Amino acid sequence: MFMSTQVLISGGGIGGLLLGYKLAKKGVHVSVVEQMAKASPVYKGELLQPKSLAIFKELGLISKINKEGHKINEIEMIEMDDTDHHIYTQGALSYEELDSIDYALMVPHERLKQLILSEAMDFQHFHYLAPAKLQSYENGRAVVKKGEELIDVDADFYIGAEGRRSPTRDELGVSIKPKKYNHQYLTVTIPRKDSLTEGKIIATHSRFLGLFPLPNGLVRTVYLIKDGEYPQVKKKGLDFIQSEFKELAPELGEYVSELNDWKKIQLMTPISYQASIYGKGRFAIIGDAAHAIHPIAGQGMNLAIQDADVLGELLSSMISTNDESLSLSKYEQVRRRRNEFMIRLSNQSALLYSINNRSFQQLRIKAINNLMNDPLLRYKQMLNISGLGLWKLSAADYLIQSGLVPSRRRNRVQNKQLSKYVFNPANDYPWKYK
Ligand SMILES: Cc1cc2nc3c(=O)[nH]c(=O)nc-3n(C[C@H](O)[C@H](O)[C@H](O)COP(=O)(O)OP(=O)(O)OC[C@H]3O[C@@H](n4cnc5c(N)ncnc54)[C@H](O)[C@@H]3O)c2cc1C
Repeated sequence: MFMSTQVLISGGGIGGLLLGYKLAKKGVHVSVVEQMAKASPVYKGELLQPKSLAIFKELGLISKINKEGHKINEIEMIEMDDTDHHIYTQGALSYEELDSIDYALMVPHERLKQLILSEAMDFQHFHYLAPAKLQSYENGRAVVKKGEELIDVDADFYIGAEGRRSPTRDELGVSIKPKKYNHQYLTVTIPRKDSLTEGKIIATHSRFLGLFPLPNGLVRTVYLIKDGEYPQVKKKGLDFIQSEFKELAPELGEYVSELNDWKKIQLMTPISYQASIYGKGRFAIIGDAAHAIHPIAGQGMNLAIQDADVLGELLSSMISTNDESLSLSKYEQVRRRRNEFMIRLSNQSALLYSINNRSFQQLRIKAINNLMNDPLLRYKQMLNISGLGLWKLSAADYLIQSGLVPSRRRNRVQNKQLSKYVFNPANDYPWKYK
């Protein structure tokens, strides 16, 4: 069988679906191929950062997405004693520091995918083939297997949004070198009390538990273990896990009894990498096909959304204007530096929470206290996490955070200065503002 389309997207995860939606909305004929027939039971990203929310707002999807999510205004960091659970310090990083979109949103991953897909289906230029798998590229065309049938797909552009294992990345001849970490996470969603409404990171010198409230009275939990420790933890039993959760987060109350089946608890192994090329000729890769990031700062899904936004804008410009000076490298020019920065930021946070000793906890406590006392430092951290802008920390910032130099108590900065670091459409889509 033969099929032709302007853009073929291989992979109907968040990245592929959003790119398909944006292109179809702009009148491009787009086909998304997804290998799975139904929703995946695997936990994936759920925290939407402000930049992703701004993209959904621009695309007209924000009010529907807000209804599906739980708003997070702040993430509280708590440091406690490992034995008597005395709290050494606690401080919150607040999204309210930001000027435009001042919250993050927890949305169940599969629900978000369903919503984007159902909105995309309203466009006559949007085609969704599932279950169907991109098998290979032959003679510059894609070969897609749907049931027993092989479909020869001719497209102007081929986009790989297949996640970590990407045949489109292979076709580009791009290799990746995954970085591994000294830890893994156990993650599971359980019910929560109504009073648990904000994000929380609770740490002792040797333990870490993250709590991220979802809608419908649920909370996503993330518990750190050492790399390779999983068999021993399993041997200790669910009673051990329950008592760890009780000690670290008494606010979970009786709901820790929901940690009653290993099948519900997923082992998550962090890795990170950057592909050496994001696009060449008529091929490009987005999301986890192009890069992976340590999950601690909740950024992976957001990078996929932000890649899709920039590439969607570029592809629609290329298709509608036939401007020969445009190439897929423009997408990479915008996205690579931002993704690289976010990968580094997440690596720093991962390092902060993965060294298990008392002196390191003391350094962390100092860093939290110094951060809380310095409004400019807090703003920079929130701006960077939000994805709304990029403001590298200076040598002075690092000295302040480590306590070697006193914090600046004055108000953050003049508004004029701020705008230099906040992305605007000319930064996001520079080819449109030549
Ligand atoms: C446990 C876990 C927790 C996470 N937590 C967070 C978080 O809190 N916040 C956050 O932002 N990120 C988080 N992430 C990362 C985030 O989920 C990913 O970065 C994001 O899903 C990447 O989106 P994607 O569209 O690039 O790829 P994926 O979500 O991997 O989607 C790829 C899709 O392509 C399909 N596919 C693959 N090969 C083919 C093929 N040959 N033909 C057709 N279809 C194909 C797959 O079936 C899949 O549906 C987490 C990830 C995991 C695993």
